Amino acid sequence: MKTLELAQALIARRSITPDDAGCLELIAARLAPLGFVCERMDSEGPPRTSNLWARRGAASPLFCFAGHTDVVPGGPTEAWQSDPFQPEIRAGMLYGRGAADMKSSLAAMVVACERFVAAHPDHAGSIAFLLTSDEEGDAFEGTTRVVERLRGRQIGVDFCLVGEPSSLERFGDTIKNGRRGSLSARLVVRGQQGHVAYPQLARNPIHLAAPALAELVAVRWDEGDPYFPPTSFQVSNVHAGTGAGNVIPGQLELLFNFRYAPASPPQALQDRVHALLDGFGLEYELHWSSPSLPYLTPRGRLVAVLEAAIAKHSGVTAALSTSGGTSDGRFIATVCTEVAEFGPSNATIHKIDECIAVAELEPLTAIYEDVLRSLLCHPAQ
Ligand SMILES: [Zn+2]
Repeated sequence: MKTLELAQALIARRSITPDDAGCLELIAARLAPLGFVCERMDSEGPPRTSNLWARRGAASPLFCFAGHTDVVPGGPTEAWQSDPFQPEIRAGMLYGRGAADMKSSLAAMVVACERFVAAHPDHAGSIAFLLTSDEEGDAFEGTTRVVERLRGRQIGVDFCLVGEPSSLERFGDTIKNGRRGSLSARLVVRGQQGHVAYPQLARNPIHLAAPALAELVAVRWDEGDPYFPPTSFQVSNVHAGTGAGNVIPGQLELLFNFRYAPASPPQALQDRVHALLDGFGLEYELHWSSPSLPYLTPRGRLVAVLEAAIAKHSGVTAALSTSGGTSDGRFIATVCTEVAEFGPSNATIHKIDECIAVAELEPLTAIYEDVLRSLLCHPAQ
């Protein structure tokens, strides 16, 4: 139960984002004796961030495990059945903040490497770890900084397995082979403030924006593709009004977000929104945030190897999915040919009483070890 022990040791470190709380040190201390060259690529920030790049061997192909040591805050400790930073096992479940997202995966990766290297000290290619303490926050100083350094050294990664908890209904049912992009904006529609009893002397921005908003909500932006669901548009905030019941407000403010498939690039979405608003003759300002880009790894070697390992150790046929929020996979994909995400059940992530079934730890470790063996063993081994 080495994976369980290491997962518990990691959970006991209070690594609330972007604090690493010594997790990387603990992991590096396990990797160094295996022959990994461990390099800290910390960033002064803000936020101050701990990053680790560890590599064993110099040959190709380069396989990389990726993940994060930071966790979201526990929330009110009294709402938990046990302290979020004191790992506890009850009825076969390991409880603690990070148990599922994603300290158990980190432990499984390390133990998988220990077993694999012991059995195959002269394996082909090389193994790397890319770990950060800034994933749950803004993710400005974490994986993206390490990826910049790799690009500067002209290091390309052939395969990357991110240990995010991907399983939905049962362990092993989902592999993430891509993620949608995210594009946000703030829209301000201008009107003219006045008295509600004298509408002819004012212009109500709520009334002006309503038909445009109805159309924005009704648009079918694209049909998706075999790997991605159709692009979705959601309004997250709408605000207008002075607080008084007898005043027509001067402006309306709207925040919205696209989760987009590669079929609709950000520039195309921006152009379409502008054209739609212009069509209604609105007087407006539109401020776009820089988009989070999507990534996709079509079926190939990494996905095939993962599918086989999952089937062998869980008995489940994994489905490919690009659902969910953004992940660090999007940064890694800029220097890596094949990126996929696989990890334990995500039912309790970020919740009170986050937990993982202890019974998932051994198959998770075995799956990670199988992936190493399939990708990095000479045919004769
Ligand atoms: Zn995570």
